[in-house]
Amino acid sequence: METITDPFPKSHAEFAEILKELRELEPTDLRSKLVVAGFLDRPYGRALMRCRECTYYLIHKKWCDLPEVSLPVEPDWWCRLWRI
Ligand code: SF4
Repeated sequence: METITDPFPKSHAEFAEILKELRELEPTDLRSKLVVAGFLDRPYGRALMRCRECTYYLIHKKWCDLPEVSLPVEPDWWCRLWRI
């Protein structure tokens, strides 16, 4: 599945815009959520960013705690809402 991995948000405003897009989706539209958030099932970029180091990752639950995502995720996955 192709997801929107770029642009990676470089400012709070760009980050907030992606969150707004996610909030506008139908709650049951999982596919669009994965596309808009830019999910990958592998680390991303030269820095190999991944969920494991993301501030929103709950490692013991393997869960993304960002309310607009709120999904089970694997530690080696990534999305463009990644933050440390
Ligand atoms: S925001 Fe993205 S990178 Fe961070 S834990 Fe959630 S799915 Fe992973």
